[in-house]
Amino acid sequence: MDLLKDRISKDGEVLSRDVLKVDSFLNHQMDVGLLDEMGKEFARLFCDVKVDKIVTVEASGIAVACFAARYFDVPVVFAKKHATSTLTGEAYESAVYSFTKQTTFHIRISKKYLKPCENILVIDDFLANGKAALGLIDLVHQAGANLMGVGVVIEKGFQNGGDILRKMGIRVESLAIIEAMNGHTITYRV
Ligand code: 5GP
Repeated sequence: MDLLKDRISKDGEVLSRDVLKVDSFLNHQMDVGLLDEMGKEFARLFCDVKVDKIVTVEASGIAVACFAARYFDVPVVFAKKHATSTLTGEAYESAVYSFTKQTTFHIRISKKYLKPCENILVIDDFLANGKAALGLIDLVHQAGANLMGVGVVIEKGFQNGGDILRKMGIRVESLAIIEAMNGHTITYRV
């Protein structure tokens, strides 16, 4: 998605060899016009599959999942990272190792909001080593639901998450795939 790649190149900050900061339009301040275009693009990429629900993880996946959901006209369920008093009843749970925080946390979705036979599209902001996506996929499988694919805003192609998921036979569609980040130069997979 050229609009996104241009924006990453213009406003993204390379924090280290493998961490990109996009706080000015995606992860802190949000450009809703750009988010709307991302939602439209996910709907175009997955137009051949029936999607009943979009699943993401809080917090940074929620915005893009919601914009995509407007185009699919389906609900969004976000996995919660903390056990709260409002998450009552039974929940599916999975452990996820965080690439950015370097700790393991647990994600949960109430059994009320993930049902067997639902067709699920997983959406997230970044794909690095694939742990967040694999955790969400685990929840989908625990529910007996069908995984239709994984949509990612920014895939870092030099990390192995994309390869792992694709080798598992999972369809992954990324709006921008970064091949390398060297200093301020970001190169994209074509
Ligand atoms: P993974 O689980 O694929 O290793 O990492 C994906 C998750 O970590 C995403 O949900 C995202 O929040 C976070 N993440 C991974 N790499 C980056 C990055 O370079 N920049 C930002 N802002 N978040 C990242």
